[in-house]
Amino acid sequence: MTLVDGPDSAVPQPDRRLMLVHAHPDDESSQSAATMAHYVAEGAAVTLVTCTLGELGEIVTPELDYLRDKPAELGRHRLGELSAAMEQLGVTDFVRLGGDGRFSDSGMAYDEATGFAIPAQDLPDNAFWKADLLVAATELVALIRDRRPQVLITYDSFGHYGHPDHIQAHRVTHYAYTLAAAPAFRPDLGPAWQVDRILWSASPADEMRAMIRVAKEAAADRDDEGPSFFAAYDPDGPDDPPMSTPNRYIVARIAGAPWRSRRLAALRAHRSQITEEGIRWFTDEDHMGPFMNECYVLGAGSAPPAGADDLFAGIDSD
Ligand SMILES: [Zn+2]
Repeated sequence: MTLVDGPDSAVPQPDRRLMLVHAHPDDESSQSAATMAHYVAEGAAVTLVTCTLGELGEIVTPELDYLRDKPAELGRHRLGELSAAMEQLGVTDFVRLGGDGRFSDSGMAYDEATGFAIPAQDLPDNAFWKADLLVAATELVALIRDRRPQVLITYDSFGHYGHPDHIQAHRVTHYAYTLAAAPAFRPDLGPAWQVDRILWSASPADEMRAMIRVAKEAAADRDDEGPSFFAAYDPDGPDDPPMSTPNRYIVARIAGAPWRSRRLAALRAHRSQITEEGIRWFTDEDHMGPFMNECYVLGAGSAPPAGADDLFAGIDSD
């Protein structure tokens, strides 16, 4: 690895730099754990930007019930969980957009007709979903110009399942990507920086179909219904699974298997959000095996060469 000095950075930076923009603590561990561990091991700079503290997340662990309906306390607690997860993945540069508590978790409701998430009726005053796009994106521009990532990772425009904070993270990332590269925009925030590519994390349809098929067979053997979300889905039918992306759009994959134990440990750190049963399901090789890789769709910028197993493939890193 070579180190290069940035034009105005006091600290030498590795020549490959990755930034991930996630909405809540735990999203990074459930969606990007292998990716982060992989690039930390390679010596790349890995920066995690978390947009909220997850103050309105549902608490699934009975021992933590005392945090229910106490958003500020839950946010502080989840920051501790996030720190523990980052220790497991070896990530030392993790920040909150605009500072801790600047943007609040917006919560969510469920649309009964579709089963997807929708914005809640009552939103906190500083809900991320209500944030002015320019204000929130400007906070990210400052981070982009300071860290100078070549690759940004975030969600697709539907936030995978409709969570308003995931959708907002997508919007803020794309707007900041454009503004960070414009020299005339807020020159006080540092020299313009052109990110080479935005990637959206994605679940490939073929692998997800295989995962659901195995999970349903295992549930049938146990004589239960299996994962409720997929109860109505037929993995042998013509339609792709909900929340999946057609395989032809996947441009890069990071192998999950080498990072299984780290991913498990990072997920376990988010005790308020994930039960032991959930962790077991999530990390069970039998049904998750084909689904363990972390896959990406091109959101903006240059495409990697076909079949890439490196998110920086085709980028001249300096
Ligand atoms: Zn989330």
